[in-house]
Amino acid sequence: MIKTDICIIGAGPVGLFAVFEAGLLKMRCHLIDALPQVGGRLAEIYPHKPIYDIPGYPVIKAQELVEKLIEQIDSFHPGFTLGERVESLRCEEYGSSVVTTNEGTAITCKVVA
Ligand SMILES: Cc1cc2nc3c(=O)[nH]c(=O)nc-3n(C[C@H](O)[C@H](O)[C@H](O)COP(=O)(O)OP(=O)(O)OC[C@H]3O[C@@H](n4cnc5c(N)ncnc54)[C@H](O)[C@@H]3O)c2cc1C
Repeated sequence: MIKTDICIIGAGPVGLFAVFEAGLLKMRCHLIDALPQVGGRLAEIYPHKPIYDIPGYPVIKAQELVEKLIEQIDSFHPGFTLGERVESLRCEEYGSSVVTTNEGTAITCKVVA
């Protein structure tokens, strides 16, 4: 059983940056994604597409942005479960929750995001 503070469903750009914000508050995160790699739509659908609406980057390719996001959260040491789909969420006593994937991986956490 994996234990963490926040279980983040989806390792797209939003999930990845959530690790950074949580890390500033000293909360550990574990991300789950049904895809075999992180980056969500950016990595899966349009990795080579130039993006023009990221603050601080006049232009950046989608996959490059994913790599920057990973670099940005590296020091917070998030856990990853990739290639598995979240299928159930159970609320336990004392405010903790258990998230379970289609492969039977279970993550106990205080918050699900
Ligand atoms: C062709 C295209 C071009 C785009 N161009 C731009 C652009 O230039 N600029 C811009 O700002 N935005 C652009 N967007 C929009 C941008 O891709 C999205 O706003 C962004 O991906 C949203 O990030 P996200 O992390 O919320 O979701 P996503 O990137 O969709 O990631 C969500 C992740 O959650 C996972 N997931 C969902 N449910 C489960 C589950 N039950 N179990 C496990 N995993 C799960 C999915 O597999 C996915 O990887 C574009 C979108 C497309 C399709």
